[in-house]
Amino acid sequence: MEVRLLELLVCPLCKGRLEHLRPPQQEAQELVCHADRLAFPVRDGIPVMLESEARVLDPAA
Ligand SMILES: [Zn+2]
Repeated sequence: MEVRLLELLVCPLCKGRLEHLRPPQQEAQELVCHADRLAFPVRDGIPVMLESEARVLDPAA
């Protein structure tokens, strides 16, 4: 159920598809928009789709 919800989410800025990153650290889940180079946090399983909360990805990474 939760995974299905995450798959339906799109970037609030460009409406593009988001990549759901699920590293071993469960608290570090993120939804990444590669077009905008932003990573939206997932807190307690709830995606925070706010640009102000998003992490800017390092273009060198
Ligand atoms: Zn985007």
